[in-house]
Amino acid sequence: MKKILIVEDEPTIMRVLKAYLTKNGYAIAEAEIGEQALSSFTQSPPDLVLLDIMLPDLDGWSILKTIRSQSTCPVIMLTALGEVDHRLKGFKTGADDYITKPFIGEEVVARVRAVLRRPQTVYQEEDILKYGPLHLYPNSHYVTLNGKEIDLTPKDKSLLLFLGHHPNQNFTRDQLLDHVWGMDYEGSDRAVDLAVKRIRKALKANGLPNGAIKTIRGLGYQFHVEQ
Ligand code: CA
Repeated sequence: MKKILIVEDEPTIMRVLKAYLTKNGYAIAEAEIGEQALSSFTQSPPDLVLLDIMLPDLDGWSILKTIRSQSTCPVIMLTALGEVDHRLKGFKTGADDYITKPFIGEEVVARVRAVLRRPQTVYQEEDILKYGPLHLYPNSHYVTLNGKEIDLTPKDKSLLLFLGHHPNQNFTRDQLLDHVWGMDYEGSDRAVDLAVKRIRKALKANGLPNGAIKTIRGLGYQFHVEQ
């Protein structure tokens, strides 16, 4: 039986989560405050953590950070409606998914199932693409240069991560639009040029003089690595 640690200080929400997950065959461990969550996590590691962000003592982010420093155990964050940046922050800090309150019990069960089905390789060292001082974290959607996070829009970051995943491979603007923006994107391929420009600028400003992305004349772009 898979065990889920629920970290939540609101008794009503705790009760609902517990009822649905128990009914679906999961064992439950409960924690109402952060300290309790961390000691429960260490003493009896669960298969998954449902983690509320607003807790009376520690906040969910620092708990997530502590968990990530010692484990790849999947974590689903519980966030309040409208806190979109929580979602981004969550993925960056290493959350596997997030659920917005108020939620439906069935949705929680479905998310838990989906996350538990995923292979747990996401946060291991080998998933980081290292190009000198530039490190790309495709799964947690994160880019660092000399250990410092590079500030890019989510789309620009997706483009850089995609190109970095296929070093020295040429892509046309159309291919990049399909892969990064999605098939249903209807804007112009100028979007690619502008994104590349912003990425180069950000990388150069942070000490990577070649900007990593090379223009291939008459074709498109490639993430260039000296061989
Ligand atoms: Ca709370």
